[in-house]
Formats: sequence, C-alpha cells, structure tokens
Amino acid sequence: MNRILYWFRNDLRLHDNEGFVRALEDADQVLPVFVFDPHLFTQHPRLNFPKTAVFRANFLRESVADLRQSLRDKGADLIVRIGKPADVLAELASEIGASAIYTSKEITQEETDVESKLSTKLKPLNIDIEFFWMSTLYHVRDLPFTISRLPDVFTQYRHQIEKSVRIRPTFQTPETVSFVPDILPGDMPTLTTLGFDSEARQQVDQPDSRRAVAFNGGERVALERLNRYLWQTDLITTYKETRNGLLGDDYSSKFSAWLANGCLSPRLIYAELTRYENERVKNESTYWLIFELMWRDFFRFVALRFGTRIFKSSGIKHDLNRKFIQDETLFQRWAEGKTGIPFIDANMREMNATGFMSNRGRQNVASFLVSDLGIDWTWGAAYFESQLIDYDPCSNWGNWNYVAGVGNDPRQFSNGQPRYFNIYSQAMRYDEQGDYVKHWLPELAQVPADQVHLVPTLSIAQQEEYGLVLGIDYPLPVVDPTKWYTNPSL
Ligand code: FAD
Repeated sequence: MNRILYWFRNDLRLHDNEGFVRALEDADQVLPVFVFDPHLFTQHPRLNFPKTAVFRANFLRESVADLRQSLRDKGADLIVRIGKPADVLAELASEIGASAIYTSKEITQEETDVESKLSTKLKPLNIDIEFFWMSTLYHVRDLPFTISRLPDVFTQYRHQIEKSVRIRPTFQTPETVSFVPDILPGDMPTLTTLGFDSEARQQVDQPDSRRAVAFNGGERVALERLNRYLWQTDLITTYKETRNGLLGDDYSSKFSAWLANGCLSPRLIYAELTRYENERVKNESTYWLIFELMWRDFFRFVALRFGTRIFKSSGIKHDLNRKFIQDETLFQRWAEGKTGIPFIDANMREMNATGFMSNRGRQNVASFLVSDLGIDWTWGAAYFESQLIDYDPCSNWGNWNYVAGVGNDPRQFSNGQPRYFNIYSQAMRYDEQGDYVKHWLPELAQVPADQVHLVPTLSIAQQEEYGLVLGIDYPLPVVDPTKWYTNPSL
C-alpha cells in the first residue's frame, strides 16, 4: 500500500491544487497535514510586536478550519499539529510508512529553511519529498527566460510573458479522498494557545464596525467573494477606475488575503475572468485585474531571483550607501498612527484595527516612513508582516524594496532617489473631502472638509472652533508639512 503525506502550507484549498491532486493519483492513501509553526508567533527580536498579529493568525486559523471541514465532507480529515514542521512531519510520515511527502514549493528564506530541515530528516528514513509550484498565475517552468535573466523592468517582463506564455488550466477539485485511517486528528489551536492575550482576542471577537470587509479565512468564503466581485455585482467592470479607493468594500477585489494563504488560486480568478469576458463584458478593467496579478507573480519571481537580498536594508540593489535611521520612538508614532499627519494616521489606524489597508494607503505610509522620516524601511516591512492579513513575503518585501528605492527597476527612481509621495497632494487627490480620514480619526469630526488635510497648521482659534487641541486631542506633526503645500510638485 503506497501512502503519501500531503503537507498543506500556503495552499489552503482543494480547487486547483496540483500537489494534492498528484498525491491522490500516486498513492493508495493520503494523509493531509497542517502544522502551526510556533516560530510564526514569536515577538520581533528588537521592536515590540508579534511576528504574526491577531488578525492574520485568526485568518489562518479560519482557513485551516475551513479546509478541514471540506476534507471531512469528503470522508477524510486534516491532521492538525503545533510544532516544528520538520520534526512533526518526519515523525508522522514515518508513523504511517509514507513513501513520500508532497507539498507546495515556497521560495523565501524561512520557508526554504524549513524545507531543508525536513529533507535532512527524511533522508535517513528513505522518504522522498516532492514540491509543486502552485502560487502564481504563470508557471515558473513556462517562463521564456531562466530566472537569472528575469527582466528588471516589470513592463518588459509583462510584454515577454504576454507574447509567449499560456496560463495553464486549473486542476479540478478532487471528488473523493482516500485517507489514512486511525491517526489522531488533533485539535485546532485557539488564539489563546497561539499566545494571544484577551486584549488581542477581543479585537477579533468584537470587530471594529468601521472595517471595510469582514475578512473570514477559507476557500469557501474566497469563492463567494470571487463570485460576488464578478458575477453578482459586476464590480469588476469598473475596477480600473475604482482601484485607488480608500473606503468600503467595493473599490478593489479584496482577494489578497485569500491569495496569500492559497485559499484562492490566481488561475481560477483568470479562468473565471475569461468566462466573464466571454459571457458578459470585456473591458480595460477586466484586463487590469490580470495586470495586477502579474505584478504579484513578478514579485514572486524577483524574490526567486534575488533570494535573501529582499529582506535586507541594502535591498535588491545591494545599495550599501543608503543609510536609514533606527529611531524607535519615531517608528512607534508611525506604527500607532500618531504622526500628526492625518492621511498617514488614518491608514495606519485602519491597518491596526482591521489587518487591512488599501494599496494607495500602503504606498503613502511606506513612502512617508522612508522618505520623510528616513527610518529603516525593513522595520516598516516587518510591521506590515505582523499586521496585514494578506501578508505575503514576496509582495510585501518586494513592494517595500521599490518604495524604499532599493528595488531592481531603474524606472522607479529619479536622480537615484525613490519616487517621492507628496502626502498632502496624495490626500487631496484620493480623499478630497476628508471622508476617509474622518472615518478613522473621529477626533477630527468637526474639522471642515477643506481643512482636514491641513490640520497640522490649524490656528488656535480654528482648533477652538473645531473642538480640538493639537498636542492633546490629536498629535502635533512629526515633520513640517508646509513643504508639501508650498511645493506641490514634490
Ligand atoms: P486589488 O487591487 O483588487 O488587486 C488584485 C490582486 O492583485 C491583489 O489581491 C494582489 O494579489 C495583486 N496585487 C495588486 N497590487 C499589487 C502589488 N502592488 N504587488 C503585488 N500584488 C499586487 N499585497 C499582498 O498581497 N501582500 C502583501 O504583503 C503586500 N504588501 C504590500 C506592501 C506595500 C508597501 C505595498 C505598497 C503594497 C503591498 N501589497 C501587498 C500590494 C497591494 O497593496 C495589495 O495586494 C492590495 O492592496 C490588496 O487589495 P486587493 O486584493 O483589493 O487588491
């Protein structure tokens, strides 16, 4: 009897899961396993925040629970353990007499370190390990160049890909799963087991009513969201115009958290979009979602090409001359949304209260941290890693490299400097009436729309009129914002 252990990682779905389908084809019985790695729930070694904060931890729990339910509906189960993945998996594989472990291929350092440890443990047991590339729209083996020749410029990459590469079809969801019996399934860890205190748990139990979307983990909800964004509401047809929005559920797809955990396959999005284009509407917006998914792919291939460089201050460029400051007090004010710059603070407070921030917000707060405060961008990236429910090592650290000006695309820079965001101009462009800022900063409720982005410069009389004292009700600014008003081209 041939048995294979299938190790679920960031592929928490049954649709379009090549690795799992192959395991079912190659084995008489399969043991699906998920391991919660305690390393993911440790504290940042220097800054006082967890590697995985409560929203992402909860989204992961929900995704794993949903997968377990789907497998149970098929008469199988998901074995759940807490521990070092290499130890747990080697032990389980040996216990069931597995010939192999099948799993998805990851490429970033922590994930590949685990793979190496597992390989070392499996060798003396004579158990093979087989990896399946499953996270991107375009398969890595279909690229028309070797990874060392990946173009530096996204547009060049996109042109080459679009010209010559076909997106592979999706794999069907398996109808039945022949399952290794008599293995203790294991309990799902609670947030308490994962180390979260009552204050953190309360953020999940009593979600902030101002949040844009109720993000619940799992394949089921992901498929509902896909169906809603395309077929039920046709929101996809205006995506290109709305995608820079800040408020509400509808301005962008909100697929990211499900993509990051693998609850949703990018190829399924593509297949559904193609069907939608054939049956309903094909326009610039339907294409633009694919365009953004190509950015996601690009960052994954960039990480594959440049390895650990994406995590270092010197970045992909390996620019050892770029100096950043490490000021913990200033960083803390940025992280808590207390910089005194309303557009920055509103975005940071949204992320802290919900685990999500729009793309426009991310660009601005990241640029502000790096270019206005001069703080080490890797601190910002680590904080995003902690907070974002859609945290994805390649998209997060890759985007931060670009904003910090240490990325590999020469067109992102002018005069060797990263593209500078004038925060005031951005705020006026994307939140002209201040609705977004007031949504997250209730202390500014009485400030009139045309003053809300000018709060740092309000006179004493104005402050009195708007029921606000700067330095008490709302922080004084950490930078002088007048440079943005006087020089809009900045
Ligand atoms: P939509 O606009 O609906 O886009 C659809 C999908 O395209 C997204 O779900 C995402 O998978 C992909 N996508 C869109 N923009 C980008 C982009 N710039 N880079 C890579 N993929 C993109 N995205 C993450 O998924 N995880 C991260 O950890 C992450 N960190 C970021 C950090 C910074 C500093 C910045 C500037 C961007 C980051 N992004 C990250 C990219 C982007 O902000 C989010 O993917 C997007 O806001 C998610 O919302 P959405 O699903 O509604 O996006």
